[in-house]
Amino acid sequence: MYILVINCGSSSLKYQLLDTVTRNPLAKGLVERIGMSGSGLTHRPAGKDAKAAVLEIPDHTVAIRLVLDTLVDPTYGVMQNLGQIGAVGHRVVHGGEEFAQSALVTAEVMKGIEDCVELAPLHNPPNIAGIKACQKLMPGVPQVAVFDTAFHQTMPREAYIYGLPYEMYEKYKIRRYGFHGTSHKYVSQRAAVLLQKPLASLKLISCHLGNGSSITAVRGGKSVETSMGFTPLEGLMMGTRSGNLDPAIVSYIMRKENMDFEQINDFLNKRSGVLGVSGVSSDFRDIEAAAQQGNGRAQLALDIFAHDVKEYIGAYAAILDGVDAIIFTAGLGENSAGMREAVCGGLSYMGVAVDPEKNKVRGEEVDISAEGTRCPILVIPTNEELMIALETEEVVRGL
Ligand code: AMP
Repeated sequence: MYILVINCGSSSLKYQLLDTVTRNPLAKGLVERIGMSGSGLTHRPAGKDAKAAVLEIPDHTVAIRLVLDTLVDPTYGVMQNLGQIGAVGHRVVHGGEEFAQSALVTAEVMKGIEDCVELAPLHNPPNIAGIKACQKLMPGVPQVAVFDTAFHQTMPREAYIYGLPYEMYEKYKIRRYGFHGTSHKYVSQRAAVLLQKPLASLKLISCHLGNGSSITAVRGGKSVETSMGFTPLEGLMMGTRSGNLDPAIVSYIMRKENMDFEQINDFLNKRSGVLGVSGVSSDFRDIEAAAQQGNGRAQLALDIFAHDVKEYIGAYAAILDGVDAIIFTAGLGENSAGMREAVCGGLSYMGVAVDPEKNKVRGEEVDISAEGTRCPILVIPTNEELMIALETEEVVRGL
């Protein structure tokens, strides 16, 4: 089945048209600067030249109309007609407690997604705009919502309730939700294939290390603990996010620096993390290069990050009562041999050791653990679009 996967941000839209039989994309692309000057489309059809166009794209409906037209364009297109699209899968960031699984979009489901806007005010509204645009432009084609939070709905209460008065959970739904669920689910399933063991029998620690980073403990294919929380700010220090802090620091900085709520929010989400510590960049490639040239603060940022990841691995080994494999995925996890080595060094008591030769790999599925060690260390490139397409197909198969 051909599935169109849509990931709508406030001013951008990423798409892929995937064939679920071959599991390959027929085309992928990006619409940028929606509603702003200089908006445009970059379209990459498999086996053909890419197309880049700058044109006025005032809203998400126009953006999706453009994507659909391009997919059937005589020169750049990859299909005869839009009737070949069996369903559309939408990435939706927040599904709250309402959605533990992907869902066919009905009026009731739409209301559920709208109810979660309060929990993800920046992310859910563009996701909703994308769904509405597709409903309008492709009437009769099933729309499926695939939630970043859904995979983590299996966490036990002790993992998701914070040490706050319980009414905060009851009144405002303040709890750990976790994110990157589609990625953690995908790499866990791939790990079972690579290990040639049933997923139901495995204890996995999945490290999604990119610009945003999170770690998940997966038992029997289910998330039982994850490092991101009520928002993606919790957990590891990230590209620009602080990660875990003593909560008292927040009001202290607000007082000292005379910041209001919006400013501190921006400070913790956009100016902290690896960028804030190093003063160099939020991109780990720049940080690694600066550290190699002797920049002490860049090295410190790398050391803190590796320390944080190791801390979570130790904690999640305790939660899981053992580990059958550690998985590295996303931009940094898939590509940085140095970070994988730094994280896994000193974990020999857990039977974890990296083979330096195997660790040279990039962008491939491979076990980089040293010969004779107990715990496989798997590098698995994530593929959230494929996971969304497969989930979408599963939802619509029964219709
Ligand atoms: P993602 O959010 O998964 O797209 O990951 C993006 C991050 O991955 C970037 O900020 C980079 O810091 C990091 N990254 C990508 N490629 C490399 C690489 N070859 N070496 C180190 N870091 C990388």
